[in-house]
Amino acid sequence: MRTTTRLQAGFVLAISMLSINLLAPLFGAMWLGDTQQAYEREEHLLVQSEQLLSALKDGETGQRGFVISGREDFLAPLYQGFAEVDRLLQDLQAALHADVELAPALTALKAQVAKQRGYLSEVVELRRTAGLQMAIERVQQGEGKALMDSTRLLVGDMQAILTTRLQLLEARQRWQENLLLGLLLLLAVVDLLLLGLLFHFTFSVLRQGRNSRDNLRNLSEQLSSGLQRLELRNREISLLGRMTGALQSISSFDECYSIIGRFAAQLFPQNEGSLALYHPSRDVIEDVAHWGAWPEGLDLFEPQACWAVRRGQSHQVQDPDKDLLCPHLHGSSITQQGYTCVPLMAQGEPLGVLTLGGVKQVDLELAEAFSEQVSLGVSNLSLRESLRQQSLVDALTGLHNRRFLDETLRRELLRAGRKQSPVAMVLLDVDHFKRFNDTFGHEAGDIVLRHLAVEMKRNVRASDLACRFGGEEFALVMPEIGREEAIERCEMLRLSVSRLQVRYGGQPLGPINISLGLAWFPEDGEQMDALLHAADLALYRAKRGGRNRLCVYSREMGDAEPEASA
Ligand code: GH3
Ligand code: MG
Ligand code: MG
Repeated sequence: MRTTTRLQAGFVLAISMLSINLLAPLFGAMWLGDTQQAYEREEHLLVQSEQLLSALKDGETGQRGFVISGREDFLAPLYQGFAEVDRLLQDLQAALHADVELAPALTALKAQVAKQRGYLSEVVELRRTAGLQMAIERVQQGEGKALMDSTRLLVGDMQAILTTRLQLLEARQRWQENLLLGLLLLLAVVDLLLLGLLFHFTFSVLRQGRNSRDNLRNLSEQLSSGLQRLELRNREISLLGRMTGALQSISSFDECYSIIGRFAAQLFPQNEGSLALYHPSRDVIEDVAHWGAWPEGLDLFEPQACWAVRRGQSHQVQDPDKDLLCPHLHGSSITQQGYTCVPLMAQGEPLGVLTLGGVKQVDLELAEAFSEQVSLGVSNLSLRESLRQQSLVDALTGLHNRRFLDETLRRELLRAGRKQSPVAMVLLDVDHFKRFNDTFGHEAGDIVLRHLAVEMKRNVRASDLACRFGGEEFALVMPEIGREEAIERCEMLRLSVSRLQVRYGGQPLGPINISLGLAWFPEDGEQMDALLHAADLALYRAKRGGRNRLCVYSREMGDAEPEASA
């Protein structure tokens, strides 16, 4: 049954019981009143019958007084008695005319009373007319006494009936009182029971209501905290997305680490932390970014010193006294409140480790998602970097290639133009290189090229740029250098190359000579192509001039060149 229906039924029952409580005593009193009335009526009849006898006795006394004294005033009680008797008989007649039991008795009594009154009147008359003696004789005959006895007998019969009735009514009254008392007691018990039930039910409904309210409040609190968590998750996801986007569009590792540190500080505001990556040598891991109150002195550690890196899975320390501590954090304040290390993995290989400390329990799910994105970003950047390196470095000689030269020279010329400083541009070519290939094989030719590259690196300054221009041709860019020094360096290079004694398969390959063409920025060409062209013309001139030499560009070369090539 539904609570509302039960409540309604409870209240209808309570109102019904209240009505019964009110009506039961009312009807009970009326019921008792009827009996009481009947009792009083019977009692009244008894009294009247007694009064009747008494009135008759008064009459008899008056008659006797008159007989003895002969005085008329002694007759007053007689007449009063008669009047009283008349009234009483009338009342009795009115009360008993429908009474099956007493009506015949009353008729008999009335006849008897009439006889008695006749006798009394007769004696009085005799006294008046015949005198005292006659009257006394008449009285002495005993008729008066006999009449009185008969009357008493009749009245006694009636009174016996009335007394029996009164006894019955008394018994009935007691029974009714007991019944009513029992009924009222029963009602009281039922009332108490119902009241108890109603209280119990009402309180249980109130309790239910309170429980429902509590449940609702809990539910709403859960909902709102769930929403907050959801909002936080959304924010974290958006931050992770933004970080991934940023990592995809950067080209330097320093920038990459600074971005990671920035986003980590936002994603883990309650947890100080650090990101440490494998050094290119792969023998140590070094701190590349940290945030929050990360302690000093945790910059470098061996890969073995971190449980997360060793096992390739997250390592959480909640109780520093019981859990296994990573040696790389030994003695630091981070271990005091517990920490989490999450390995950074790329294609099954560890890249480094993310460490988070702090009072608040670390959100492991977020930390792992973060480290996954960071791993992806860092490994992508490494890949891009190595591809870039590959695309800019010549695999045979290890020098930068023509592409790199194009990129760098353009920038270098712009910079030199701004600073108004000179740049020496040299192109050099191995003389009769084809012979090495033809005589000793292609591999021997490669070895010559490698040796030449080593010599070039040895003979240039750190700020100079040595590149393989293509085939057995090389380029040298020497910024901010004087003419003499540039020429001197070129000559030194030429000499040192010519002194090389390269062997292949135990055989000496013979002397290696180079020809060089030198042009100046900005005099011989302000643009890269023009400058290279000038250096090329100078090189051409060196070849034409007998090889194994350096030629410096001059304007006439440009004019003579078409003829030369023709
Ligand atoms: P010159 O003195 O006029 O420069 O004569 P040369 O023989 O050096 O020049 P040429 O242009 O006739 O020949 C260049 C040769 O270099 C042709 C090519 O087979 C060879 N070559 C180019 N690149 C490589 C390389 O990477 N390795 C080897 N072994 N040979 C190469
Ligand atoms: Mg050549
Ligand atoms: Mg050559």
